[in-house]
Formats: sequence, structure tokens, C-alpha cells
Amino acid sequence: MNNETPSPAYGQSALRVGLTCKCPRCGRGALFTGFLTVVPRCSVCGLDLSKEDSGDGPAVFIVFILGAIVVTLALVVEVNFEPPLWVHLVIWPPVIIGGALAMLRPLKGLMIALQYKNKASDSGTVDYD
Ligand SMILES: [Zn+2]
Repeated sequence: MNNETPSPAYGQSALRVGLTCKCPRCGRGALFTGFLTVVPRCSVCGLDLSKEDSGDGPAVFIVFILGAIVVTLALVVEVNFEPPLWVHLVIWPPVIIGGALAMLRPLKGLMIALQYKNKASDSGTVDYD
């Protein structure tokens, strides 16, 4: 793999290509082939993404971000309306599950784009041979 490839190439913003789930180098090729399966190679520029590993990074950020949002909203609802406990049990699980599923793909794309931009070893684009 060519380690001298500018990153992200073509002036792509890591934030924009990450959140839109596009290739971190060209910003045009799709990053995922399934819900969270990363394509082995970009269909547009040929960037090898087969060794990319974002690990648990996206899930950790979702826990922190979504947790802060949901806890804040639950406190606001509790303080202002004092609903019975079952109302909380009905409201928050769908919000948590839906929010986590909605945030997972863009945050994984952002993690991959930032790994590529910063030439992290987990990006799979660095050869140590
Ligand atoms: Zn590409």
C-alpha cells in the first residue's frame, strides 16, 4: 500500500466523508456493504479497507453521547411532569435503541475517516513490512 497518499485526498473533510459513510480517501465510494460491514476495497479509488479496524470506538462514543442526552431528557421529563415509572419504561428504551442504531453507522464512518486521516495503525493503510 502506498503510504504517501495524501489523506484525506482530494481535500475531503474527514467529518463530512465519515458522517456520510463515504470512502475516507476519495469521498465518493460507499464505505459499507451492509449495515456495518466495511467494503474490502473502495469501488471508486481502490483504497484497501480490508484491514481497517475501528473496534469498539463508535460504540463507546454512542454510550457517552446518547447516555448524556437520554439521562438529561429523562431528568427533564421527571422534574417537569413527574410521570409514573411505567411512562419512563415506555419512552426511553425505544429512544435508546433507535438512537444507537441511527448513530452507529455515521460514527463508525467518522472513526474510519479519522483513523485514515491521522494515519492510525488501525486504519489498515500502514504497512510495517
Ligand atoms: Zn475511495
